[in-house]
Amino acid sequence: MTDRTTDTSVVVIGAGQAGLSVAYYLRRLGLDPGNDFVVLDRGPGTGGAWQFRWEALRLGYAHRVNDLPGMEELGVSFDTADRHAPARDVVSDFYRRYEEHFDLQVVRPANVTKVESTLDGFIVHFEGEHGPREVTAKVLVNATGTWGSPFVPWYPGMNDFRGRHLHTTDYVDAAEFADKDVVIVGGGTSAIGFLMELENVAKSLTWVARRPIVFLEDQELNIEAGVSAVALQDAAAREGRALPSIVSTTGVPRSRRIQAAIDRGLLRARPMFASVEADGVRWSDGSFQHADAIIWSTGFRPELRHLAPLKLREKEGGIGVGGGASWRNARVFFAGYGPTASTIGANRAGRTIARQVVATLSSLEQR
Ligand code: FAD
Repeated sequence: MTDRTTDTSVVVIGAGQAGLSVAYYLRRLGLDPGNDFVVLDRGPGTGGAWQFRWEALRLGYAHRVNDLPGMEELGVSFDTADRHAPARDVVSDFYRRYEEHFDLQVVRPANVTKVESTLDGFIVHFEGEHGPREVTAKVLVNATGTWGSPFVPWYPGMNDFRGRHLHTTDYVDAAEFADKDVVIVGGGTSAIGFLMELENVAKSLTWVARRPIVFLEDQELNIEAGVSAVALQDAAAREGRALPSIVSTTGVPRSRRIQAAIDRGLLRARPMFASVEADGVRWSDGSFQHADAIIWSTGFRPELRHLAPLKLREKEGGIGVGGGASWRNARVFFAGYGPTASTIGANRAGRTIARQVVATLSSLEQR
């Protein structure tokens, strides 16, 4: 061991909703934060992916953000939080207080670059404030979310576009699109949010989506739609397939804001264009739309590059995960992955995964 190496029993990678929830339950089950388990996060601050979301995004514009387990001890709740403040500030503030209150000792910045397996468990390599470091652990919990792995589909001519391609993760604010012709791609709440923000700012707005948009009758995500979306995610994870897009399986809840935008004709999506040209996009019927910018709100993929040395990927394209654990290595757990990739799912995953982690550690001790 070098002084760059720390030993622990459990490493949790990621301190978003999923990672913090696991950490909370590990602590409740008697593990000591910073000693028995270590949480690593590469973000400069608290809040998981929320800290990077655009300034204009407010709580309640997307779906419901669920409270972290035990958050009532802090006397705060997302249900009663300031709906006019940027969501990123509210979430970062609540998560910071949460980490402090439960003394979760998250190490940041700690960018995990690689996890290798050893006879005893794992070596987790990360870039810390003072250069490369390692932590050894018996059990690994991956809770790295998707924000760091934006997905942009390929269309002919994309590289010829002289305007600006950007993904949801690159969006900063509406002002940079003033008087521009903007094409927004995608059928989810991010695409709809950008349409509403740019409505009176851009010169023209064109919305395109691969499938017709299904607007639900309900104002919030209907539980049946949610349950069936979770079941589809779970089936894909269990079969080791790439995970399907969540919005394609739930539809878009018809909140009052969204209903008003439908009524004023803003939310009419065209089918997907066939190709991109230097100055815009062209459909297969020959029609053309000039564009200065194309915003790709086309989703994310799970962020898993650092796990490549563990060889967990199946030929079906995904990682086989059942009940939160990898099929190929029962000491690797996934929180916030597939069926648990929502703020409510992440909470549930925290409890079940923490229990499994503790059971795994005690069976290893008995060997
Ligand atoms: P994250 O919040 O992404 O946390 C992952 C953490 O892992 C991050 O802090 C990151 O820094 C860290 N990390 C990643 N890779 C590494 C690495 N290699 N090394 C170290 N650390 C790493 N869901 C809802 O339920 N309700 C909503 O209203 C909602 N709104 C959304 C709005 C937008 C615009 C988007 C894109 C998603 C939204 N979601 C919403 C989905 C949402 O992202 C999840 O529900 C939830 O925030 C995910 O939590 P998480 O902990 O899994 O991931």
